[in-house]
Amino acid sequence: MDYSEIHNTIKSAKNILLISHVNPDGDTLGSMCALYCAIEETFKKKCDMMLLSKVPAVYEFLPNIDKAKNIEDFDKSRVYDLAITLDVAALDRICSGEIFFEKALKTINIDHHQTTKNYADINIIDPDASSTGEVVYGIMKTLDWKMNADIAVNLYTAILTDTGSFRFDNTKPSTFEIAAELVRAGANPPEIYKNVYESDSRTIVLFQAHCISKSKFLEDDKIAYTIVYKKDMEKFNAGDDAMEGMTEKLRAIVTTRIAFVVKEMKSGGSKVSMRSKFADAAQICAVFSGGGHKFAAGCTIKAAPEQAAKLILEEIKKIKEL
Ligand code: 5GP
Ligand code: MN
Repeated sequence: MDYSEIHNTIKSAKNILLISHVNPDGDTLGSMCALYCAIEETFKKKCDMMLLSKVPAVYEFLPNIDKAKNIEDFDKSRVYDLAITLDVAALDRICSGEIFFEKALKTINIDHHQTTKNYADINIIDPDASSTGEVVYGIMKTLDWKMNADIAVNLYTAILTDTGSFRFDNTKPSTFEIAAELVRAGANPPEIYKNVYESDSRTIVLFQAHCISKSKFLEDDKIAYTIVYKKDMEKFNAGDDAMEGMTEKLRAIVTTRIAFVVKEMKSGGSKVSMRSKFADAAQICAVFSGGGHKFAAGCTIKAAPEQAAKLILEEIKKIKEL
């Protein structure tokens, strides 16, 4: 990969748009804000940052996240010289933001999903990287861009959240090496930990307890799943960010080999979040045009939640070794 093309493209662009994915997580937001800070530091340019959903409260501490704007606040006729997606496995993950991406004169896709297609002019996809944050770090290092504390906090958060606090199988020696450099550059692990993992509202904890208490267990408890209905979200006044971490709690049960949560969407249809210990979750979700990683994937199914759960279960039962 010739990274100098990225450097020159960013250098020559007069206006740049950075785009994070819908229902954002720490990786897409941390990577976007890190790139915002890095471009400001190295090129003295301010980018626009686009959100497709509200920022979950736990990520409001990310340096410069307050500069990101919701898609509704963008001028639809605007044409950017350069649009960059971060952690966006497929263009449908940026919903109506796709118009801005398609119109941009040049596009870059920075990602680490194994299912990502080369949908941009320049595609920097590293499925071996723990996170998009690690890919951004690699770009910065290769191009000798300057690091600062704000970039370090954003990248550390991206890596921390996508590795499940350095627990998942995407955690490699290089992940710790990069994390160490980020700590040296100003990321404070206990402070970031508190912001991300000890900032849930009472609402979120009680809502998740309610949803988990309705879980169903099949095949000697190897399969665990629950359905989250619109009415539950309304009753608890829970937003989409209240879903974060719920599927992992079902996977954490010792007998679970595959877990999923089906959320009834406001717009109709169902959003599936899947976690597994052995089976390829991305492959199962790909059947429904979704994707992700081997052990963490998702998809959207145009069906009521019970029907969506039934379709997913049919696919899971096709796997010989769960
Ligand atoms: P989560 O369950 O946390 O929403 O997503 C888990 C993983 O699957 C993430 O890496 C996410 O990018 C991916 N993912 C979730 N939903 C979708 C989807 O609808 N399409 C694709 N391609 N990937 C998804
Ligand atoms: Mn990611």
